[in-house]
Amino acid sequence: MGELFDRLKKDLHYVEGMQACINCGTCTAICPAAEHYDYDPRAIVELVQRGDESELEALLKSDTIWYCGECMSCRTRCPRNNTPGLIIMALRALSQETGYFVESEKGRQQIYLKRTIGHDILKTGYCVYAEGLATTNYPEQGPIWDWRQQHWKEIMDRLGANYQKPGAGAMRRIPDEALNELRAIFEVTGAMNRFEKIENFSREKAQSLGMHWDESLDNEYVQKAYHGSHNNS
Ligand code: SF4
Ligand code: SF4
Repeated sequence: MGELFDRLKKDLHYVEGMQACINCGTCTAICPAAEHYDYDPRAIVELVQRGDESELEALLKSDTIWYCGECMSCRTRCPRNNTPGLIIMALRALSQETGYFVESEKGRQQIYLKRTIGHDILKTGYCVYAEGLATTNYPEQGPIWDWRQQHWKEIMDRLGANYQKPGAGAMRRIPDEALNELRAIFEVTGAMNRFEKIENFSREKAQSLGMHWDESLDNEYVQKAYHGSHNNS
């Protein structure tokens, strides 16, 4: 055990999620992410339980911790009351805090998520706000997506939503007072600080790779992070 483990063990997600693993593999058997990716929650819990600092560092620098969908199906199935999903949350946090996330392809995508979902929450109160989704980043949606981007109001009206208007209803405008409360929560809980670290570590990585960096979604580093074409070196 070492400094990384000391930090991991202070995370409340870890404290709640890690009791003692008997390596039964039930979590992996029911994990939807394990069905689709080279991903094995049992192996992660076992690695953490082993307490080898260099193995933990390698895990924090790997793609592995970013495959979990945080569905928490593992929570209800583990015969020893472990929750691999919570342990993964603690590992992700530590990877972001240490900057190790920039060493893996999936980890580098944190900057894209921060600048889309993260910014949407603070700006609109919604984690996924359809109007902000850049068509160029979702080509799988096809040309209909371009049309949608220009007609959200009509679409929402036809669906009976209260789009961007005050009062109750789906897609309503979130009042400034509530948005201010949301931002205060992000400040107090350290989420803003985490966002800043994701920006800073990503910028340093972009500079080390000689890539263009700015605050948009369109710069070379962010685009390559999103499309997964960075060189790991
Ligand atoms: S289900 Fe629980 S005890 Fe079994 S391998 Fe997963 S974490 Fe360990
Ligand atoms: S929380 Fe993560 S590890 Fe647990 S079952 Fe869901 S995807 Fe798998």
